[in-house]
Order: sequence, then C-alpha cells, then structure tokens
Amino acid sequence: MASTSFEPGALAPSGMIPLSVPLFGGNEWKYLKECLDSGWVSSAGPFVDRFEREVADYVGAGHGVAIVNGTAALHTSLLVAGVKPDDEVLVSTLTFIAPVNTIRYAGAWPVLIDAEPAHWQMDPQRVADFLDHECRWSNNELRNRRTGRRVKAILPVNILGHPCDMEPIIAAARKYNLIVIEDATESLGADYKGRKAGNLADIGCLSFNGNKIITTGGGGMIVTDNAAWAERAKYLTTQAKDDPVEYVHHEVGYNYRLTNIQAALGCAQMEQMELVVAKKRDIADRYNAALSELPGTSLMREATWARSNFWMYTILIDEAIYGENSRAVMRRLASEGIQSRPLWQPMHQSPACRMFQVQGGEVAELLNRDALTLPCSAGLSFDEQGRVLDCLQAAVR
Ligand SMILES: *Cc1c(COP(=O)(O)O)cnc(C)c1O
Repeated sequence: MASTSFEPGALAPSGMIPLSVPLFGGNEWKYLKECLDSGWVSSAGPFVDRFEREVADYVGAGHGVAIVNGTAALHTSLLVAGVKPDDEVLVSTLTFIAPVNTIRYAGAWPVLIDAEPAHWQMDPQRVADFLDHECRWSNNELRNRRTGRRVKAILPVNILGHPCDMEPIIAAARKYNLIVIEDATESLGADYKGRKAGNLADIGCLSFNGNKIITTGGGGMIVTDNAAWAERAKYLTTQAKDDPVEYVHHEVGYNYRLTNIQAALGCAQMEQMELVVAKKRDIADRYNAALSELPGTSLMREATWARSNFWMYTILIDEAIYGENSRAVMRRLASEGIQSRPLWQPMHQSPACRMFQVQGGEVAELLNRDALTLPCSAGLSFDEQGRVLDCLQAAVR
C-alpha cells in the first residue's frame, strides 16, 4: 500500500478507499529538515534519543531502545531474554508471521496457542493448560513432555490493536519462571486495565511500519523496565562493539539501528498519536452502530478490561445468514474501489509453520474463514465510510 497522505475529509487518490494509510499532519517536514540541516541523518542523533525517551515515557517503561523494525525488535527481545537454540516459546497461532519467524531466527521452536473467541487474542486458559499438563517441572526448568525441550518464554501478540488478557498469562509464566515478551506492534495507544500496551510484560516490542498506528517509514522499539536488558539490546543492535576505537567484539552483533531521520518522523508522529487513536475509535463506533443492525455480521468487540486502539477494524461474516462469505464480500468491495482484507492464515495451517506443535487452533480457523478488515485509516472521511457501509448493506437489501 502506497503511504499516500491525504487530508481528513478528502478522497484517497483515484477514488479508491485504502485499508489503512498513515496520517502526516504535524511536524514531520520540520523535523526532517532539522536532520538535513544539521547533518544528523544516520544511525545516531538527537531524535533517536528523544524518540526512545518519548515512547518509553508514553507507555510508562523505564527504557526504550530504537530498532530498525518491529521484527528485529522481537528477535532482539528473544536474545536478551536468554532464549537459546532448541528452547521453546509459546506464541499466538493467529498472528502476522513475524513473531513466529523471530523465534526461528533465535534457533528456538514455536508452540502455537489458539485464540479465545471473545476478543480473538491468545487464549490464557490454553497457555495454563499446556504449561500445567503438557510440561514437566524439574531442576528448576520446565520441559515439554512431548519434545523434551526447555520452555523458556511466552510471546503473546496483541492482534488488531486489542490487548491480550495479560494477567493470567503472566501468572502462568511466573509459576514456571518464564519470560513474557509482549508483541505490541499493533497495539501502541491501547490500554489494559489502565496500563499501556507495550508495558504489560517483561519486554514489549513496537513497530512503526507504514501500516501501524504511527509510522517512521519503517521502524521498531523495545520497551522494558529492565535496565540491563535495555543496555544489552542496544549493544546487540549496534554490532556488539566492546571497544569503539579498536573494534573489539566478543560475540555476534547486528546492525539493527534506527536512523535519526526515521526517529525524526517518529517524534512528529508521537505528537499526533492520541489523535490517530481517537479517530480510529470514532471509525469503530460508527461501524459498530451501523452494522449492529446488519444480519450475519458480528462486530469487533472490546473487553471491559481493555481500551483498544482499533488499529484494524474487523468484522465476522456468517455466510449462512449474510448470504455471502468473507471473500465474496472482499471481491464485491474491491469492485467498488474499496480495499478490505481477511485475517492471516493461522500459523498452524501455514506451509512455513505447519510442523510446529499447536494447542487448539479451531478458533483461529473460524476467525480466518469469517473475518474481514474494513477501511479504517485515521483520515477516512465520513463519506468514504458511508460508501463502505452502503456496500456492506447492499447485499441484504
Ligand atoms: C507488523 C508486525 C510485526 C513486525 O513489525 P515490522 O516493523 O513490520 O517488522 C510483528 N508482529 C506483528 C503482529 C505485526 O503486525
């Protein structure tokens, strides 16, 4: 998707209504110009430090480490958490593939956990059942009975901007001394019981890709209260340099740095984040009000304990009642110039991940069959949203 910027209220170029495009309405040009004028364009500079501090402060974490993208942030988190080759990490099966890939980068094995049906997030009961009944605790280690491998961490993914029910997941993790890494790449700006997503677990990972709540073009960050982990993340993502003058290294490092130019965009975007979340929530409110009357559709729900950022507004379509399945609706919307999209193929069905152990999976499969994400750019106009609603209501009329 081209990251076209357009004024709220204006149509996207060529009358197409895109799924979700960023909004650049603040100090982006000003801060970018400061980078060029000062010469600080690359992987160090004042905006990098400022962006790290602002994001960490926003989520209420002690430390932020800017990283080249959300995927690299997840990979680095696994490394600083001490996940080693042949360890196992529990992860959501209904997710974009990035967190699962990063478990493989670390040489570890994903154990895929189904979603719960109410809010579509990692099912805490399945996590507890797996740890309590499918694993064995001995010598201060938890081992998967089936594979004999050590279980080291849990990686819940807050999908579509709604947090996972984190308390029971963390309680299960504490019981067995596991580390919890929160994939908050889709949920910046969301709350869980009054706390900010990203700061709900031991380490949080954020993304500033073009389609996320705020963007730096591409970018990511780790947020954590653990100063030693933050320092180690900075070390590993800057080539693990032990002597900056003599180029002495003791281990494998990575060039996972975010540039000052990217961070400048990020600082400008942070100033508008609450506005973006407010707009996303208004869009969700209008979809909910209009579609609650439409037979065969069920709405995206928000838990009483959560405040979603409604990053990607998604409905379920019951073919038996609505008369068309989600893919047919997607094609019909496309013929009207409206972009929509199903949810990800569940990881346990993905050809790249089918070999991994899964707990459940039926909920994710149903969601994949019925879900459709609707246009929800922060700049979506009233008329554009009206066009989407007309199109959805047309099938019933
Ligand atoms: C976008 C995303 C990522 C990866 O972020 P990038 O910045 O694109 O690398 C990871 N996990 C989930 C769930 C995502 O949606």
